[in-house]
Amino acid sequence: MYDNNNIFAKIIRKEIPCDFVYEDEKVLFFKDINPKAKIHILGIPKNSVVNFRDFISKTDKETVKYFFDKVVEIINNLGLDKSGYRLITNDGVDGNQEVPHFHIHILGGENMGGLR
Ligand code: 5GP
Repeated sequence: MYDNNNIFAKIIRKEIPCDFVYEDEKVLFFKDINPKAKIHILGIPKNSVVNFRDFISKTDKETVKYFFDKVVEIINNLGLDKSGYRLITNDGVDGNQEVPHFHIHILGGENMGGLR
């Protein structure tokens, strides 16, 4: 069940501020408030979906492709296509998902080390 009061829903509605990287009618990319790497961007679709599975199952294919194309665009615009990057999406208890609106972490700007 989607919680309309989660922090990213409030960011989409502009009820709380964020450091925008890119926005249009379908997607939003902004800087993580507590960066885990020199570059740490969060990418979200604007539809009300809780996690990755929810996004894939409840979103039309065109919008899913649109979102991931924008992820690639942001990666390229930041020069991460040359230096490398890491994509993460967390889900549920073991994934330690904190904010229940689907998001992708784009991490880079330095070597990210091993998986943990
Ligand atoms: P999760 O653990 O849900 O995958 O990641 C949530 C991310 O959202 C965390 O990296 C956290 O730092 C970030 N975050 C939480 N609240 C805010 C906020 O109000 N603004 C921004 N820009 N990032 C936030």
